[in-house]
Amino acid sequence: MTDSARAKSIAHYTEKRPDLAQQLAFFERLWSVQDEFADKAAAYTPAPLEDLERALRNHQTMFSLVEPTIPLDDYRGAVRAVAAVMTEAGLSEEQTAALGEVDLADAITAEALSGVLDGLDVFIQSIADAVDDDRFTTPLISFVLTEAMTPFLREPAKAAAAAAGKFDWLQWDSGLCPACGTPASSAIIRDEGELQGGRRWLSCPTCRTQWEYARIRCARCGTRTHTDLEYLYDEEDSAHRIHTCTACHGYTPVVFEREQLVVTVPEVEEVVMVPLEAVAAERGFTPLGDDRDEIPN
Ligand SMILES: [Zn+2]
Ligand SMILES: [Zn+2]
Repeated sequence: MTDSARAKSIAHYTEKRPDLAQQLAFFERLWSVQDEFADKAAAYTPAPLEDLERALRNHQTMFSLVEPTIPLDDYRGAVRAVAAVMTEAGLSEEQTAALGEVDLADAITAEALSGVLDGLDVFIQSIADAVDDDRFTTPLISFVLTEAMTPFLREPAKAAAAAAGKFDWLQWDSGLCPACGTPASSAIIRDEGELQGGRRWLSCPTCRTQWEYARIRCARCGTRTHTDLEYLYDEEDSAHRIHTCTACHGYTPVVFEREQLVVTVPEVEEVVMVPLEAVAAERGFTPLGDDRDEIPN
């Protein structure tokens, strides 16, 4: 996704949705910080096509074959930069003070960072334990650490997806990212090919990979039972919907590209769909559903 598409999308929604202007401005700052670190990503050579195909068919991520190197000093720099942006995010006074006073980057060791993609939750918890400051919530630490990781994973993910060539992502058959294993943050329904109603592509919040997934299926638990699946949306804006599942109580924000007024940039659309997510939450749905560790199959 080009920066100009992102800038156009942000401008479009800032005008159309003044209620979201502040959030969009915040994320624009965050994304430009990520862009500043992107050229510090280490060179990445993906596994050969044959190995990638075999791994994907066996539900193993592409990064499990060749893990990208995240340079410690640059990553620490990104963590500090993201934390600085977060101090202007309108968090509680306590959290803002903690972000200003405690250097999360200082708690990151080379040892913790190596193998980070094998267990992102373990890594985040190890930093939380090392910092040991009650003012930080785990979601806040998680947000800073993962957003700071994105610039170092985007290019390796792109290289891995390119190396996988024409692999049919429907065979990956999962709501987890085929590159890094993170659960999808949103989906796009695109009118492509002959298939009526379009095809669905999921998007990874961490490395920004997009992969195809069955259109009428829960991206969280994998159920295909139609009666469990529904769209929640505002009649005046049918381009943005939340796909809810009563089997696992999970949901996925979805953009219907055909009904869009601007080029679809997943990270921007995700900000636009936050108010709809709140409606889904009020109705008892959670982003990942009941069994977040289970790979759908
Ligand atoms: Zn990913
Ligand atoms: Zn489900």
